[in-house]
Amino acid sequence: MRKRFPSLFDPKYRIVFLLSLMVLVIVVGTVCLFILQQVEHPSKRMKYPTLDDKNISFVDSNKTIEKVQQLQKRAVEIVKKEKEIPIIQEMRKLEEKPIVPLAYEEQNAPKESNKLPRLVIIIDDVSYDYDVAAIQSVGLPLVMSFLPPIKRHPESALLAQGVSGHMVHLPLEAMGSNGEEDETLKVGDSVEKIAQTIQKIKKLYPSVRYINNHTGSKFTSDKASMERLLEVLESEGIIFVDSRTIGSTKAPEILLKQGKRYLHRDVFLDHHDGIANIKAQISKAVNTAKRNGTAVAIGHPRQDTIAALKQSRELLKQVQLVGIDKI
Ligand SMILES: [Zn+2]
Repeated sequence: MRKRFPSLFDPKYRIVFLLSLMVLVIVVGTVCLFILQQVEHPSKRMKYPTLDDKNISFVDSNKTIEKVQQLQKRAVEIVKKEKEIPIIQEMRKLEEKPIVPLAYEEQNAPKESNKLPRLVIIIDDVSYDYDVAAIQSVGLPLVMSFLPPIKRHPESALLAQGVSGHMVHLPLEAMGSNGEEDETLKVGDSVEKIAQTIQKIKKLYPSVRYINNHTGSKFTSDKASMERLLEVLESEGIIFVDSRTIGSTKAPEILLKQGKRYLHRDVFLDHHDGIANIKAQISKAVNTAKRNGTAVAIGHPRQDTIAALKQSRELLKQVQLVGIDKI
């Protein structure tokens, strides 16, 4: 007799068949739910940005977080190392302040002084140790401009070595030649002669970046002479600050034509002696700085000028006194 396969219609196997079907549905349903859980919503599937995530599966979030933490640690180490790079250390020395993010600087900078107009006060004709002492006694950041050494004041280059941000006061020919400094550059001097003088100054004052003219009404009015001087100064990396000893100076014409900046004196503080006169000129310089944002004033190491500056400390709080390189 042929053996019969169990039939659905066979009441003997019906219950077994239905039970098997239920188990199958439960197993398939569980598998589907598991797969759906793994896939989830697309936004949850985004990978963390990593440099090397070859071994990371996006479903293994613990491993991903661990990797991100490692990368963060590495980034901190890189930043630490960069701070030690010599060039950054050099920059730090130059800036005389620690390297910090810009946002930090903006937050912590003394806001009031940042907004203040900037005024440069240059004290010309500095030649002797008592000049330096008198200027330093004012207790303000004044810029000293030293005359190149000659027999009458042989130590003026040596004195400058102890003064930061100093300038050199270059003697140029005046209309009347009374009491002229030795080695004054004259109208008609050749490029070679001018270059020799400037190179000598660079040797005597190795850190000099700015010079201004002592006298020079004749020289600065002569276009060809000024063209030669400005050409030499540029090739030697020195910037000319025009003392404007005469209105007909050719420096602005030459420099502006070449698209270069023209730095010049705005106010003479002590053209006339007398403390009251000089204080009025200091006030004029402050107002010029307020009006234009920056200004350059020139004075001399004379008794009245030193006294007037000392008496103007309160007034000068309305501006930020800076070096010539800061305007
Ligand atoms: Zn001078």
